Amino acid sequence: MKKEVRRAVIAGNWKMNKTPSEAAEAVAKTAELTKGMNGCDVVLCVPFVDIAAAVDAARGTDVKIGAENVHFKESGAYTGEVSAKMLTECGVEYVIVGHSERRQYFAETDETVNLRAKAALSAGLKVILCLGEVLEQRQSGITSEVVSMQTKLDLAGISAEEMKNVIIAYEPVWAIGTGLTATPEQAEEVCALIRETLSGMYGKDVAEATTIQYGGSMNDGNAADLLSKVNVDGGLIGGASLVPEKFLKIVEAAQA
Ligand code: PEP
Repeated sequence: MKKEVRRAVIAGNWKMNKTPSEAAEAVAKTAELTKGMNGCDVVLCVPFVDIAAAVDAARGTDVKIGAENVHFKESGAYTGEVSAKMLTECGVEYVIVGHSERRQYFAETDETVNLRAKAALSAGLKVILCLGEVLEQRQSGITSEVVSMQTKLDLAGISAEEMKNVIIAYEPVWAIGTGLTATPEQAEEVCALIRETLSGMYGKDVAEATTIQYGGSMNDGNAADLLSKVNVDGGLIGGASLVPEKFLKIVEAAQA
């Protein structure tokens, strides 16, 4: 199977940026600019409070709306949290789980990331599972071990059938929001390793069919080179997704 048979997905992660009115405007602009660009799926993952406005603005367009996290319980005494069912009822189609900022600042672990992914899949959401090494791990030469272990732990108990709704975002933590980007060769090497790990877990067909994104300071200047790599099937984009004109350039780069 070749790269061309996998669906490229360009997803924005707005993090804690934009109010609902700003979100409505940015979603509408992104939809207008990317209209007809069928070479990839275009997703914007937005703060919880922006979801209603974003879904409304995306209605009838090709832009899909995602959330930035989800809790793993269906309901209950979990102040401040949001369930998968709440998200689907609001019109959300995708959800990010395991973002490094959640792992770093909110004590999320591979175990809770795995629970979140399972809860999201059970509710019918598509999951963008983020994983990647921190700088010290790369410098110590253990990137492969770290990434393949995260892949196994975060996907534990998720079936081959459910993998149709899983996208993996390889995000080296040292490249997120830092302006430092992995070279296309570094991105390719780790995305290929993730695919090999998937092959061991699920077999070659599932591995070849899974979309694997790169994320970490992807922008209009470096997207084309990163996306040209055979195992890099898209991007998860933070900063550059906040400005529709910049995001457009990345979506354009994914059309080739
Ligand atoms: C991210 O938030 O997942 C990300 C990759 O951010 P940035 O593009 O700003 O590095």
